[in-house]
Amino acid sequence: MYDLARLREEFPVLSTCIYLDSASTTQTPRRAVDAMCAYFYEYAANHGRGAHHLARKTTERYEETREILGVFLGVDPGHLVFTKNTTDAINMAAHGICWREGDEVITTALEHHANLLPWMALKERGVDLKILPQKNGFVDPSDLQDALSPRTKLVTVNHVTNVLGTVQPVEEMARMAHDAGAMILVDAAQSAGHMPIRIDGFDFVAVPGHKGLLGPQGTGALYVKDYSALSITCHGGGIVEEVTLQGFTLLPPPARFEPGTPNIPGVIGLGKAIQLVEELRVEEIHRHETRLGEQAYDGLSSISGVAVFSPRGSPVLSFNVDGMDPHACAEELDRREGICVRSGLHCAHPLASSLSPGGTVRASMGCYTSPGEVQVFVETVEKIASRKKNPRSR
Ligand code: PLP
Repeated sequence: MYDLARLREEFPVLSTCIYLDSASTTQTPRRAVDAMCAYFYEYAANHGRGAHHLARKTTERYEETREILGVFLGVDPGHLVFTKNTTDAINMAAHGICWREGDEVITTALEHHANLLPWMALKERGVDLKILPQKNGFVDPSDLQDALSPRTKLVTVNHVTNVLGTVQPVEEMARMAHDAGAMILVDAAQSAGHMPIRIDGFDFVAVPGHKGLLGPQGTGALYVKDYSALSITCHGGGIVEEVTLQGFTLLPPPARFEPGTPNIPGVIGLGKAIQLVEELRVEEIHRHETRLGEQAYDGLSSISGVAVFSPRGSPVLSFNVDGMDPHACAEELDRREGICVRSGLHCAHPLASSLSPGGTVRASMGCYTSPGEVQVFVETVEKIASRKKNPRSR
């Protein structure tokens, strides 16, 4: 039973606004914030260093989150590297894979800049980039089949687009990539915690902590199936077994990929947040968010003067009010009812500008969003659209 009223008590901010920007970052539950406060007030120390009891407790709690995340994602926690966010995770792969001149990467026209720019930047290292076309928010797997070549080293694709919420057939794409001898990276920024996902069939998966997993900002992880495919890109303390003036030997992974002092409180908070997602059950979250997506879609698409771009059921809903700049619409939603939505090109310029040159307004729902909030949102868009058509109305 999905107890929404009880769940919302975990997020005090929800009583002050209608938060429909969860695709950007989610709210953090009380239990995660409490765990972070406990770290600061009771035992803050550094991770993995020092024999004193505070350092031991810190290390235990930090590593506990790796275990929790491993169980949640159904993979060996030893193959999860903590990162700052999804972008950091993708860059770790992009810069850590051993490239040879003439290697090829295939991505899609649906990507967030985080899964586009790092691959574009590899041009300097002689790596070619192919970009699969998209239609209505989907790539056709047969285009991938045609694009794969003996030079393809990596296919990289998002699981769910952040502009439209469309879901890509990543398992099928993984089979195609592997059959062609290539690896696959999946950007799970909009799927982890929102829908069931099996990640052990992919070579790399970038996972944000601060979106569907409800963790604090500044957290994320990279799943690495085979560490031999990846070198470290950042050097420093905490990653070495031995250092002499002649050189160094690295600790085994994942430690070798986490140099310096990590986001210890964030990771500890993330562990508690994932436990909440586990309690809710991701299948139930998916069902809840899909229903909200349907409600929002049905409401918005019945308003004259509103164009909806996302498919029905997507909890990431892009739309525009005819003749209105997306930012102006977002500001008005906030001003009228304290509704927080995103507007513009959503860090996905190629996709968002293909829908409308100035991008879209994007309402994105989370596990804690209520049908009542969606109703207020739809009614407010209706008022804005009718005022746009008839400036004298309110
Ligand atoms: N990929 C997708 C599909 C996203 O939606 C986002 C952010 O919204 C990112 C990557 C970047 O995520 P982060 O902010 O965690 O780096």
